[in-house]
Amino acid sequence: MYPVMLGMRGRRVLVVGGGEVALRKLEGVLADGALATVIAPQVVPAIEALALRWRGRPAARPFARGDAAGYALVFAATDDPAANAAVSAEAQAVGTWVNAADEPERCTFHLPARIQRGALQISVASDGGAPFVARRLRQVLERRLGAEWSEWMDAARRFRRAVRALGGTRADAERRYDAFFRATVDVDRLRARVPTADEVEAWLAPRAGEERSSGGGSAPAPGTVLPLGPRVGPAPGSRPGLVSLVGAGPGDPGLLTLRARRRLLAADAVVYDRLAAAALPADLPGRVELHSVGKEAGHHPVPQEEITALLVRLAAAGKRTVRLKGGDPFVFGRGSEEAETLRRAGIPYEIVPGVTAGVGATACAGIPVTHRGESVRVTFVTAHESVKGDGPQVRWDLLAQDPNATIVGYMGVSSLPDVAARLEAAGMPGSTPAALVSHGSTAAQRVVVSTLARLHSAGLAAGIRPPAVFVIGPTVRHAATLDWFVSRPLSGERLGLFAPAGALGAALDAAGAEVVEAPRPLGAAARVAMGAAPLGGFVLRCADEVEALEDERGMPGLDAEVRAICVGRGAAARARALGWTRVIELEEGAGAEAVVAAVAERATRRNPWTGCGS
Ligand code: SAH
Repeated sequence: MYPVMLGMRGRRVLVVGGGEVALRKLEGVLADGALATVIAPQVVPAIEALALRWRGRPAARPFARGDAAGYALVFAATDDPAANAAVSAEAQAVGTWVNAADEPERCTFHLPARIQRGALQISVASDGGAPFVARRLRQVLERRLGAEWSEWMDAARRFRRAVRALGGTRADAERRYDAFFRATVDVDRLRARVPTADEVEAWLAPRAGEERSSGGGSAPAPGTVLPLGPRVGPAPGSRPGLVSLVGAGPGDPGLLTLRARRRLLAADAVVYDRLAAAALPADLPGRVELHSVGKEAGHHPVPQEEITALLVRLAAAGKRTVRLKGGDPFVFGRGSEEAETLRRAGIPYEIVPGVTAGVGATACAGIPVTHRGESVRVTFVTAHESVKGDGPQVRWDLLAQDPNATIVGYMGVSSLPDVAARLEAAGMPGSTPAALVSHGSTAAQRVVVSTLARLHSAGLAAGIRPPAVFVIGPTVRHAATLDWFVSRPLSGERLGLFAPAGALGAALDAAGAEVVEAPRPLGAAARVAMGAAPLGGFVLRCADEVEALEDERGMPGLDAEVRAICVGRGAAARARALGWTRVIELEEGAGAEAVVAAVAERATRRNPWTGCGS
């Protein structure tokens, strides 16, 4: 087989068949500008709907001899092998290229699986022998290639035009192309970025290509991806980028501050902790470099020195860098250590405070950390230190003395028995109200309310997992009545929705769902955010969205268990045709309220609240 790209604009294409397969072929060729004809005794409503757009009417009759003449391409897309055979034979007889889905022997051309990023297209083909392979490889590449390649491709085309306008030799042009490619593509990570105007100017300058390719030790162009190296601090003469140490809040992306969001959207690079991943804006532009440093209890994190070295390196290369941390950067977040290192390296930095878990998770559990007449003091304390014992010990004995106070313990799930023993030994009653809040503010939030003496076993019984804070003090008892978080109809639901989420997104959010608004195509940040916690479902408003999601199936957080909540029969039919098993079909045109009600009715509600009296 010989690969070619065909210009379809204005070409006549015949699709024989009226089902889902025909629909997909039709959509494909129409998108590329072809003039399509459909012949089928009956067609699915989606084809009727498409026909309105291309202002044609499907011919409501079976395929007949002579029908294939005069077309550039013919698709035999019926579900009847005999009919497909007849179409294929007829097309070949009149010398027209023909494709019959899943019947390689009846094809004179195949359709490759394709990955598109604007003008950039990558096709994967298996000679028709194993389309499943091409499909899976496409999924892999879909995931690896961010949306930024589209912008990059546009920049590359502009650059080529500019180089040709210079009118130099072929070798001269190639040197310039090399410079462009080397500086803008990270070949190991398959990432690309759009060059700055200064860079382009430098590459277009007389003999610039030559200097660059001679590798004469000149300083890298501004913004160049620097190799990992020991150099610390800004390169001589270059201006380092600002590093923003940003608090992401306790997990709910809605608790990101406005400034945090602004810095993220304007960043060149983002270095994020695992706990902050869910708060990463899904619409982060594809040009933003993402670095995961995976900090979470039980995982092997990137050592702190490497994180700070990375921040210094990015900033020194002139990149605006966001260091995104869970909660607040200065509350048990080592943000101050990172700020110290940046200061020493002469790199400008700022702190963007965030909602710390001690107030964010507790508020979502309905536990006020202060309350008039009950608690006049809050202590945020790390419970981790008392286990490691390698620093100054927490004075639990002093904390035990104050009955009108709240203690919020971070990193303390496993050290709870030890903490409770110390507090009780210093005189705090074992009956003091106490709670555990895990994954506070997110769809996975769990709250266990008990007493100081019993909290650990109650947490074990409820299967509480980190991240969690424990809360000890009189105000904990309000959790029983101020349980606003779980009383919302969609609390506990984490739902995906393609952008723009619009009124439906707002309604789902107001009803308590955690909504991930996914851009199309999904960029790297959206994948990180979506994969940061399991999705319960994905709301799909048309067959087209189903198709878009199909390309992403299998990515973390989006496995076969994820329910497809389809608005309208077209979307549901497409989902079923693609073999999805968990399809929920809502009426065509169902409004936001109806969708909320339907999702609430089918909520896979885990028990998010466990009250264990004293
Ligand atoms: N800088 C962060 C804290 C980092 S230490 C902040 O200000 O919140 C990590 C600890 O934070 C976890 O062990 C847990 O105790 C707490 N934590 C973070 N996110 C949480 C959440 N969503 N719910 C409950 N506790 C959380």
